Amino acid sequence: MRSDVPHTRATVLIVDDQPTNIHALASLLKEDYRILTATRGEKALELAQAEQGPDLILMDIVMPDMDGYEICRRLKDNEATRAIPVIFVTALDHEKDEEEGLNLGAADYISKPFSPAVVRARVRNQVNLKLKTDLLEKISLQDGLTEIHNRRYFDQKLAEEWSRLSRNDQCLSLLMIDIDQFKPYNDHYGHGAGDDCLRRVAQALERVPVRAMDLVARYGGEEFVVLLPETDAQGARHVAKGMIEAINSLGIAHEYSDVAPHITISAGGATHSTQHPKASAEDLKEAADTALYQAKKNGRNQYRADT
Ligand SMILES: [Mg+2]
Repeated sequence: MRSDVPHTRATVLIVDDQPTNIHALASLLKEDYRILTATRGEKALELAQAEQGPDLILMDIVMPDMDGYEICRRLKDNEATRAIPVIFVTALDHEKDEEEGLNLGAADYISKPFSPAVVRARVRNQVNLKLKTDLLEKISLQDGLTEIHNRRYFDQKLAEEWSRLSRNDQCLSLLMIDIDQFKPYNDHYGHGAGDDCLRRVAQALERVPVRAMDLVARYGGEEFVVLLPETDAQGARHVAKGMIEAINSLGIAHEYSDVAPHITISAGGATHSTQHPKASAEDLKEAADTALYQAKKNGRNQYRADT
């Protein structure tokens, strides 16, 4: 699984129209967290969506232009920022203000004047919760054995790419890949060796595509799937051939294969384009699967495409 550049400290974004308030909070937290600051709503929304965005937002309520409630509403309306916990920090201490903040999905509420120890504790609690949730999310989208993405993640990405297509009218290619004669490999070498083979094949497949947007996932058993956005049939063929070559080069001995003395894969590809449109993501998947079947029928260790 491609991992982002690690940053060891969690990031806290402080939003307040008064620089002195930002300074007071930042000085409490800067030893334990990476701090981002914004004095305006637009800037806060921009920072929240950035590559290494915040793990927590401390939000003032009363601000000119856009108030804290509105910023929070927009954060919660956006898929990319919805999961970032927001703690309101404000001198408004009426019950109905607190209620409004919490109803908007705020994680917590701190009234001014605040106690430094309470601020640190509440921030720590929310950051820990966020990091745990992120980890669970990551695990739920990863294949436990091979550590590449799993079918659930692939299905999500396929749906996303498909919906992007209908707006942009681009190509989308999909490869289905199967390890040839994996059952006799497992039967003769044992499941431990079988698992090791799956891991090595998965890692080798994942190294082939060069673009970050390309996705390699384990689909189940000895089956893998590759999603290639903005890729035509020729591009898909190039990636598939590279993968077949990469697995041949691993040279994992397989005495019980009648294809080669080592592990090989078969690949089937399908492309959605304006010339050859598919009706749905499901159709694209089925076309790749049919092409994979043809590759196997034709002798394995090869690529077949639907067009
Ligand atoms: Mg203010």
